[in-house]
Amino acid sequence: MNNVEIEKICKTIYVTKKFIKENTSLKDSNGNPYKVVLSASDTFATLLSSLKHNCIRIKINIFEDMKNTVTKEFCRNAIMRNKNAENCSVYSLCLLHELGHCETVNNIPKNYDRIKSMNQIFSYNENIKIRNLRYFCLPDEYLATQWALNWLENAENQRRIKKLEYEISKIWQS
Ligand SMILES: [Zn+2]
Repeated sequence: MNNVEIEKICKTIYVTKKFIKENTSLKDSNGNPYKVVLSASDTFATLLSSLKHNCIRIKINIFEDMKNTVTKEFCRNAIMRNKNAENCSVYSLCLLHELGHCETVNNIPKNYDRIKSMNQIFSYNENIKIRNLRYFCLPDEYLATQWALNWLENAENQRRIKKLEYEISKIWQS
């Protein structure tokens, strides 16, 4: 990775952080906004820790790596659930999903055990496609995507995400 590429990644992270600050209402118990820590990933997006220490830590897939089957199937699954997702870039959709995890953290059923459910999914020894589908249907995963899809229902929000996508495309064109 050369310096030009690193600079582009930093700029992408910067505009994304700005987008998160302007578009989320997440506040801690004292009413202060959460600090957002974003880092770049060359694989898939993931929430490193949600709402701990007044901080949201998200690892985001800077490169639209469609070779990654989880990402590809995640997008396909989201589009199946709502056509609005079709107009979104992979990056936006993954970002909104991770934000969805933060926004829906209080809606997860109290008896839900993510580790146990994950172990169950992996114990079935099914093909990876079915396994991914089961993963997307886990309560927290489903809620996160649903939050993203609902957010996209709003025309003003669609304009906002397009603006972010435009800003990012400008960074990578130069
Ligand atoms: Zn997720």
